[in-house]
Amino acid sequence: MFRHPIWQDWKRTAMAVLMSLPSIALAAGEEKEKKVLERSDIEKKYTWATEGIFSDDKAWEAEYAAVEKKVPEMAAFKRTPMNGADQLLKVLKAKDETDARIEKVYVYTSLIADQDTRVGAAQAMKARAQTLAVNYSQATSWFQPELTAIPFEKLDSWMREKSDLESYRQYFDNLLRRKKYILSPREEELLAMAGEVTSTPDNAYNLLKNADLKFPSIKDADGKMAELSDSAFYIMLDSADRRVRKEAYEGIVGAYAAHRNTAAALLNGAVQAHIFNMKARSYPSCLAASLDGGNIPIEVYNNLIKTVNENLPLLHRYADLRKRVLALQDGTHDYDLYCPLIAGQAPEYTYEKGVDTITTALKPLGDDYLSGMKKGFESRWVDVYPTKGKRSGAYSSGTFLTQPYILLNFHGAYSDVSTLAHEMGHSMHSLFSRKNQPYVYSDYDIFCAEVASTCNEILLQNYILANTTDPKQKLYLLSEFLESMRGTIFRQTMFSEFEQRIHEMAEKGEPLTADSLGVAYGAIMKKYYGSSYKHDALTDNYWARIPHFYYNFYVYKYATSYCAASNIASRIGKGEQGARDAYLGFLKSGSSKYPIDLLKAARVDMTSPEPIRDGMKLFKDLLDQTEAVMKELGMLQ
Ligand SMILES: [Zn+2]
Repeated sequence: MFRHPIWQDWKRTAMAVLMSLPSIALAAGEEKEKKVLERSDIEKKYTWATEGIFSDDKAWEAEYAAVEKKVPEMAAFKRTPMNGADQLLKVLKAKDETDARIEKVYVYTSLIADQDTRVGAAQAMKARAQTLAVNYSQATSWFQPELTAIPFEKLDSWMREKSDLESYRQYFDNLLRRKKYILSPREEELLAMAGEVTSTPDNAYNLLKNADLKFPSIKDADGKMAELSDSAFYIMLDSADRRVRKEAYEGIVGAYAAHRNTAAALLNGAVQAHIFNMKARSYPSCLAASLDGGNIPIEVYNNLIKTVNENLPLLHRYADLRKRVLALQDGTHDYDLYCPLIAGQAPEYTYEKGVDTITTALKPLGDDYLSGMKKGFESRWVDVYPTKGKRSGAYSSGTFLTQPYILLNFHGAYSDVSTLAHEMGHSMHSLFSRKNQPYVYSDYDIFCAEVASTCNEILLQNYILANTTDPKQKLYLLSEFLESMRGTIFRQTMFSEFEQRIHEMAEKGEPLTADSLGVAYGAIMKKYYGSSYKHDALTDNYWARIPHFYYNFYVYKYATSYCAASNIASRIGKGEQGARDAYLGFLKSGSSKYPIDLLKAARVDMTSPEPIRDGMKLFKDLLDQTEAVMKELGMLQ
């Protein structure tokens, strides 16, 4: 997961991680079973160096007080940016500096609050940092509208006359390119007022999902009663016992199905809100309105769906393989898609072995990358082990004025090593971008973020496959890799296709009801999984479980990132001349260009089918290897 230092993104990223990475939910579940240590029992070298941000809480208090004084100072700049090039530059510089300092104040508290959520004082500091951030953003809410109001010709001449201002050109371009969609002040005010209303479906859905829905209990594989929950869903679906998978699926999806009409009305509300916004700003479609935010061309989206559709026979082959290997006479049901193809073969790792493995696997990235990473391990970027009260899951954090920080909950599974490589990918991306870019471009778009992390995952995966000789262990790993690719590329593309379909239906005035949503979802499932897949009527309601459909065209980025990363990893693996340097250049670029242009510089054209085909090729390669190992083991004829 990529932890954006800006506060507003949390809810989204936190939920995205829970939904997209079953391994994280699994880690959280495992924590309960093993003996969890207190933080004081952990050697210092396995904890993150928060003292590098502030030596103690007193130092934090001092900076907090100093930054707090900046809030009225920034507010006093109101109505001055248009006074000339010098004044504009002064305001921009002051804002960059204050933004960075506030992020530093916040990041420190978020780390100490997450390392032990039971410590009230840390939670209180975090709450204060959040309040400071909110006050600051209110005090500077005039900033963007005032900049946008300056005519481009004027800005352009100011940039030409002052080279320091010229370095903000991309920043201005990004602000001004959307000017044509900005309405009159009165209309903008009305839209802002409508925001309270149009966010209601999303809020109500979250309450339905997290507060009101009740799930039944089922007998787990050991015959013990276990209460079902959304977060334990994938642990249950991972079970080798088909009865457990089926009952868990029916329990969870059944609970959503019982509220299908309410869920449909809420999803319809969210889609209508997107349509309202699209019409108000005169975009041709909801998809166009959403993609314009990151300046992503529509071809990128359409190209992903088209190319994945052309390769669906691969997914059909995978569903058929599962049917044969898991002896599913009546076909592969939705609840049969998650569990490993072979049980009890998971390799175990110590943290040191994990670090060594990653370091060797990432050698193709070159000395600069490796020495930066080595220094990161040595200077305690990583908080390694689960401890009492520590937040579950994993993320990469830190900000412009700090080193990167990684929260990990290392249990010793391969997925933990892979997660470490993933988070290291984010952290190295941050390190390179912060070293090579000014503050204003030091962060990167989510569209690029997951490329850096997934590229590491794939390089690690390739290395592990080439160096695992035990066929059963190899089969287990192959099965994990296939499942991760199914979940990230095929499943997220399928969700994207569904999302596009229901928006098009609503744009044409077709009603979105529990029935029409179910028909659309069922048709896409059948198309994706092919003739060995057995569709249950209950699965028609699965859309009701997915919060991402409220995010307005978000999940396609998981799939595009994975494909871009496959393309980069394959070219670096083959030793293509200049491929590594082009990729390192991308990591150093932050947000100094638009995401699609940054990737083009890394030699990946996301408007072409090529990178998507590379993702498909990697999946096919894993399938071939899986079938070969199975034949070797006598599991397939
Ligand atoms: Zn990530």
